Amino acid sequence: MPNDDLTAVDHAQASAVDTAEAHEPRPRKIPRIVVLGGGTIGLYSARRLRRRMGKREVAIVVVDPRPYMTYAPFLPEVAAGSIDGRNVVAPLRQALKGVDVLQGRATSIDHADKRIEITPQQGEPYEISYDQLVVGLGSVSRTLPIPGLAEQAIGFKNVEEAVAVRNHVINRLDVASSTWDVELRRKMLTFTFVGGGFAGIEAIAEIEDMAMDAIKRYDSITPDDLRFVMIEGADRILPELSLPMAEYALEELKRRGIEFHLSTFLSSCVDGHVVTSTGVEFDTETLVWTAGVKANPVIGESDLPVDKMGRLTVLPTLQVARDGVVVPDAWGAGDCAAVPDLVNPGSFCPPNAQHAIREAWLLGDNLAAELQGGELKEYKHKSVGTVASLGLYKGVAELFGHFKFRGFAAWAVHRTYHGGAMPTFNRKLRIFMGWFDQFVLHRELVSLGSIHDPRAEFRHASLPPKKQVDAEKKDEQRGETVGKPGPA
Ligand SMILES: Cc1cc2nc3c(=O)[nH]c(=O)nc-3n(C[C@H](O)[C@H](O)[C@H](O)COP(=O)(O)OP(=O)(O)OC[C@H]3O[C@@H](n4cnc5c(N)ncnc54)[C@H](O)[C@@H]3O)c2cc1C
Repeated sequence: MPNDDLTAVDHAQASAVDTAEAHEPRPRKIPRIVVLGGGTIGLYSARRLRRRMGKREVAIVVVDPRPYMTYAPFLPEVAAGSIDGRNVVAPLRQALKGVDVLQGRATSIDHADKRIEITPQQGEPYEISYDQLVVGLGSVSRTLPIPGLAEQAIGFKNVEEAVAVRNHVINRLDVASSTWDVELRRKMLTFTFVGGGFAGIEAIAEIEDMAMDAIKRYDSITPDDLRFVMIEGADRILPELSLPMAEYALEELKRRGIEFHLSTFLSSCVDGHVVTSTGVEFDTETLVWTAGVKANPVIGESDLPVDKMGRLTVLPTLQVARDGVVVPDAWGAGDCAAVPDLVNPGSFCPPNAQHAIREAWLLGDNLAAELQGGELKEYKHKSVGTVASLGLYKGVAELFGHFKFRGFAAWAVHRTYHGGAMPTFNRKLRIFMGWFDQFVLHRELVSLGSIHDPRAEFRHASLPPKKQVDAEKKDEQRGETVGKPGPA
């Protein structure tokens, strides 16, 4: 069983061995805090707690399948090539000094026994124990059983997806400019997005802006050849903004030629043939799913209390609570938790980075206070507003409920706000320097060929020339849809 002289990895391995041999646990000298998820909540709360309590007072272990935290508000700009994907992630081991990082997926939580099962990328699942648990597991894409969706679509929740979408879109331009098949060209140049919330609108706007910029280098593609389609179930876009500002954004995007189907649902997309609930049909090779998120399902499968939407139920102190009664030694916040909004009584804080960062700070403070016998505080934050980028030098922003910005001013507010919020000085500097480079040298618009299947050429080289062409075609067909291996 883990003892306090071991690092977290040793703890984990020792724990796995001990589980098998059924040893009795030895008492720990200092409490161990396990933080599930190294995203906004995980990174900021672990950092805050480490600042409040030294390594001799508390051991902190962060568990995440990725070795980095992703600053998601910048994903649309990654997909548009305005920011390098590596610059929107903060490596956990670098950002979390004095904290152990375990790379693996939490696959089961047993809070009654205070044990977590972790499944590493390679090797057998193992268990670790804890004294206090912080749940910052975030959300996952909310998908629906729509025919063809799982095979054709890609989500837009992480940096890998954003980079894949960017490479795929530029690759489609490259390939479409080299074919005379009219139907195939049309399919390749039709880019479809489902879900007109913040992520979807920023993604379609940024990518359309990039594509329009990119085709200036293609003699055979004109702006009229590109078709960008947004399918949204509600009768408006951007519910996070006031109606007049959301309508401004809608008109601006329509003016740029983006096609909107509001009050419309995706009914089917088998083999890239889109059919909507209003009877519209067309072919597409790019289907990006941004139609909402749900709390990480690992929580719903645990013995922790969840609401009807599968979110962890917590008090304003961010302590987990069942029917208002504190569940000892468990904390939660962010997209996976229903955090009461004390500014708007009766409602819950919206799942966004603005709240998540502040909740994480308070969670770190409260956890330190709990361990040191201090007083817990309640989470209360009045939103400073909403900012969205709609492409290079274009945006929409609403601050403090009164100040409204459009176009360049809103875009500048967006860049300044999120550039400042990006964790670590290293990443902030890289992002600002990248923007400066881009301003001087123009946006980078190259798709690195088969980056998503780097072994393809080597595989083909082992075949005779005729078979190489067949294999390339097969790979191309497999890679037609964004996210699948093949040229991207
Ligand atoms: C495309 C996009 C654009 C956005 N734009 C904005 C914006 O403009 N403004 C804004 O305020 N907010 C925005 N958001 C929302 C914001 O990013 C989230 O609300 C915020 O990141 C939530 O923080 P979190 O810690 O709860 O979740 P996350 O930051 O998502 O962290 C969850 C972590 O849990 C890890 N994890 C998942 N499953 C497991 C597991 N089984 N075991 C261990 N770890 C696991 C994940 O790898 C991840 O690191 C955007 C989100 C997206 C996707």
